[in-house]
Amino acid sequence: MNQTELLRFLEEIGARPKKRLSQNFLIDGNIVRKIVQLAEVQPGDQVLEIGPGPGALTEELLARGASVLAVEKDPLFARHLERFQTPDKRLEVHCDDILRYELPHTRYKVVANLPYHITTPILEKLFECPFHSITIMIQKEVADRIRAKPSTKEFGSLTLFLQFYSTLHSSFTVSASCFYPRPSVDSTVLRLNSRPLPDIDPNQLFPLIRKAYQQRRKTLVSSLRSLYPNLSSTLEALHLSTKARPEELTLEQWISLAHLLQM
Ligand code: SAM
Repeated sequence: MNQTELLRFLEEIGARPKKRLSQNFLIDGNIVRKIVQLAEVQPGDQVLEIGPGPGALTEELLARGASVLAVEKDPLFARHLERFQTPDKRLEVHCDDILRYELPHTRYKVVANLPYHITTPILEKLFECPFHSITIMIQKEVADRIRAKPSTKEFGSLTLFLQFYSTLHSSFTVSASCFYPRPSVDSTVLRLNSRPLPDIDPNQLFPLIRKAYQQRRKTLVSSLRSLYPNLSSTLEALHLSTKARPEELTLEQWISLAHLLQM
């Protein structure tokens, strides 16, 4: 769907892009195909699409032979997605808020141009269920935090959270001119693959990480002193500096630290 076709469609159904639902629609067919290629969608695949909107991605996913479960909050768009239904009924549309929707326990390939205002809660929700891969368009600034290397200012609890549940397969940047209306931020498409989960309860690990990152300029010894008065010796046991700040620790080091602190 190019810009002319999209504008015609929006006029036909009486829709105006809603900012509160992050409605910035893809108008570049090459990018649509590139996203579906990155997700390696094959005939017979089960795909979960979040926020299909006017359906540019939905149409391509169905053309590749996938079965698509599409969850769209805006009833006007949800209703008009039926025009892409295939003779063998591979499209299932749910008009719902993805954050309230009960995800099926099937290992889906998730493919979506996400509503940017709820990127992190959507990722948290997706990680609660088994998945095959997650190929998503998100704000470039968030993608930079996900892709960040230790000891950089972008490296933080979001980076560690994503590394815990997934491995980054690859990514590419998308210019704001590929959307209507044009967003004020640049975008990135990321593919995340599922991974075997590390051997630690995330409810034990992430409160520790978040507590340290609440005061990321401070050393761990100083920001975690009230909880762990003997932290210096634990860091030394792990061959870490007693002056280490949170962004200096890799996920593996956080896991080792959490294990030792639990003992
Ligand atoms: N997939 C379309 C495309 O690429 O052109 C639209 C993407 S647009 C960035 C985000 C879509 O997510 C919109 O269609 C919007 O209505 C929908 N959306 C926003 N919040 C949602 C939510 N909580 N649950 C499900 N869909 C939502």
